[in-house]
Amino acid sequence: MAGEGYYPPVSAFSAGLRCVCPRCGRGRLFKGFLETARMCNACGLELASQDSGDGPAVFIILILGFVVVGLALWTEIAHEPPLWVHALLWPPLILGASLGLLRPCKAAMIALQYRNRGHTFGADTGGADTGTSGKGDLDTGDPGRGDSGRGDSGKGR
Ligand SMILES: [Zn+2]
Repeated sequence: MAGEGYYPPVSAFSAGLRCVCPRCGRGRLFKGFLETARMCNACGLELASQDSGDGPAVFIILILGFVVVGLALWTEIAHEPPLWVHALLWPPLILGASLGLLRPCKAAMIALQYRNRGHTFGADTGGADTGTSGKGDLDTGDPGRGDSGRGDSGKGR
C-alpha cells in the first residue's frame, strides 16, 4: 500500500466539485487548468498517470448540448427573437459552461476511477520505489517478457 493511515471515503461528487485528491479529499488535484499534479500534496497519492481520457468532454457535450439546444428551441418558440439574439446568447454560454465544467467533471471522473479501479493508482507498486514511475512497471507476472537474448531457442539460425 502506498498510503499511510486510513482515509475515509471521499464522495466523487464532492471531490469533483472541489477538484481535490480522490483519496484524502484535501490535496490539490490539478497543477494547471486540466493537468493533474504529479502527486497529492497532502497524502502523496500518485496522480500523474491518471487519465480520464475523453470522458469529461463527452459528458459535457451530451449534457450541455441537451440543455442548450432545449433552451434555444424554447427561446425561439416562445419569443421568436431575431437570429442575432441567438448568436449573442448561445456561444458565450456554451463556451463558459464547457470550460467551467471541465475541471469538476475531470476531477469527479478521476475520483470515480480511484474508487472503482484503485489498482491503477499505483497502490500495488510495493515498498521500494525506484522513482521511475513508468507505466509499464506494474506487470510483473509474466516471466521472460521480451527477453529473447538468452539464446536457448536458436531459431534465428
Ligand atoms: Zn491526497
